[in-house]
Amino acid sequence: MVAYKSKVVERIRLPSREQRSRALEEAGYNAFNLSADNVFIDLLTDSGTGAMSDDQWAALLRGDESYAGSASFDRLESAVADVMGFEHVVPTHQGRGAENVLYGTLLSEGDVALNNTHFDTTRAHVSNQGADPVDCPVSGAHNPETDEPFKGNFSLEEARAVVDEVGPERVPLVILTITNNSAAGQPVSVANTRRVRAFADEIDATFVIDACRFAENAYFVTRREDEFADATVAEVAREQLGHADALVMSGKKDGLVNVGGFVATDDESLFERCKQRAILYEGFPTYGGMAGRDVAAMAVGLREAVEESYVEDRVEQVREFGAMLEEIGLPVYTPTSGHAVYIDAGATFPEIPPDEFPGQALVCELYREGGVRGVELGSFAFPETDRPELVRLAVPRRTYHREHFDHVVETAEAVLEKRDEVSGLEIVSNPAVPELRHFSAALEPLSAEPATVTDTNTD
Ligand SMILES: *Cc1c(COP(=O)(O)O)cnc(C)c1O
Repeated sequence: MVAYKSKVVERIRLPSREQRSRALEEAGYNAFNLSADNVFIDLLTDSGTGAMSDDQWAALLRGDESYAGSASFDRLESAVADVMGFEHVVPTHQGRGAENVLYGTLLSEGDVALNNTHFDTTRAHVSNQGADPVDCPVSGAHNPETDEPFKGNFSLEEARAVVDEVGPERVPLVILTITNNSAAGQPVSVANTRRVRAFADEIDATFVIDACRFAENAYFVTRREDEFADATVAEVAREQLGHADALVMSGKKDGLVNVGGFVATDDESLFERCKQRAILYEGFPTYGGMAGRDVAAMAVGLREAVEESYVEDRVEQVREFGAMLEEIGLPVYTPTSGHAVYIDAGATFPEIPPDEFPGQALVCELYREGGVRGVELGSFAFPETDRPELVRLAVPRRTYHREHFDHVVETAEAVLEKRDEVSGLEIVSNPAVPELRHFSAALEPLSAEPATVTDTNTD
């Protein structure tokens, strides 16, 4: 059930088909190079793209910009204590800043970090310490079809195999990412969290939860884990997070703000060490690279994130969007995550081989047909891995409504109708850093663009 009405609105505009074709060409067939002004429905990411509440805007005006001892920091501290159950907080400019502070403190050259799946920036920060990031997903995690409730879980079996091989002394850190962003945003059960806690104790490792989507994860637990059928999202969040020694958090996800992040812990010594590193990279530990007003808005956002009406509306909106796309015959990853719908583009365009990027072809056609922007997470973004050819349509929080999703579904239907005419793409210019090529590479379609017959989407 919808939990909001509008108080402020932002105009959006669908460029004509001709303008969209031109914009696509000028962007080198790479959605990251499109100007947002030319995008009608922007599903590139749910990170920092949501709408703040009137309470958050009010808090913003009351933000305290004191360099040290800011009252906004006190509000953040008490929100983190109430919502997440941790006493100490080190604010940072966003999630990766928190990763730098925490993983830079916990890891040294030659260490191994275990994670259900390292998110891109997590993997980069672990590697940046000279440590080795090893993923331990459960076996069904990358299967888009099985209907398991907790495909985001951490595989203790995989983790034990790694520890047997390298020895427990080389594994000082175990991370659990909830929800498991790089495994199609699938949730992690509380039962699995307890087992990971016990495992970390066995090998004497620090147990960190990457809590970016902790509220969405808690909602799934209330619906799918029998023990918590009568619990509130707020209760589950505290129970699940309470097993960790420390949290890393991006405020741009379940902090419901446009920028921000933090580390939280109850461990005094870890807190002191994190503060020292935070001063070096982020700022004095009561603002940590954020404006005081942004700290204040994040304090309010954290409390709103665990309100039942918010999180139910959020996750059910994404689920309904996924169901609508499935209904028109798109191969959608199931079950749907709490923040995005993932489409198997390899199955959508079976004639386009992986090295001609079926996912990127789908991204381009969704934009050309309806000004909809998604992102490719297959062979173009992750060369030399054998991931499925996924396209992600991420849903910004509290931003779009039923009519917007109707438009996306109509657009996808139009793409499906002409699927035989869609061609693959080739890369025509590559950036210097190959791992980041999907952000800036330019492509070209392999055959002439399909002739446009009817135009249902011009304004
Ligand atoms: C977004 C994200 C991060 C990094 O946070 P930023 O705010 O983008 O720097 C880390 N881990 C996970 C799981 C994320 O989704």
